[in-house]
Amino acid sequence: MKSRRLDPSRTTPDMYRLLERIPPKKTELVWLSFDVYTLLERCKSRFPELADRHVDIWFGPQETLACIQHDDMHQRILIHSVLNHPDVPQEVIEFIIIHELIHLVVPGRVIEGKLKQHPPEFWKKEQEMAENRQISWSWTFIALSQLYRKDEEGEGLIIPRSWKRMAPKRYPSLENIKQLDPDFDKMLNEAEGLI
Ligand SMILES: [Zn+2]
Repeated sequence: MKSRRLDPSRTTPDMYRLLERIPPKKTELVWLSFDVYTLLERCKSRFPELADRHVDIWFGPQETLACIQHDDMHQRILIHSVLNHPDVPQEVIEFIIIHELIHLVVPGRVIEGKLKQHPPEFWKKEQEMAENRQISWSWTFIALSQLYRKDEEGEGLIIPRSWKRMAPKRYPSLENIKQLDPDFDKMLNEAEGLI
């Protein structure tokens, strides 16, 4: 899930309008079975360093499964429409929100000549803060197995434009995933190499 830092030199009073133009072009009604805005505030309250920053959340079609756009004034989590479904477990969305908020407090950095959005300290923080990371990654890989591919840099999950044709009508619950008894460690290793 990518963190898209906007060019700081363009942080002007027009920035908010610029932000508005960045995809998704329009947000969607939320079809989740829980109040995602309450969930967002609860997640955000766990990051004291974000106390005075306002974070939005939008659902819509986009290239990646999730990302966060931010400049010095605004923060917006974008989650792909494929997860805007009443079957999607709250724990999975909570995990994604925590992951994206960590991008605000653990910035990407250059490692061996390449900018890594998820340096080792990012994963350490995620381990500390996201108690549902293992089951959430497993749910994501299994529920969306027909849909995603890795991006070229190995740092994101790409959802194809034709996702609607391939998207499942129903999604598994976390209980379903536990009953499948997948190799959680293997999935988590794959996730760390990937997202
Ligand atoms: Zn990420």
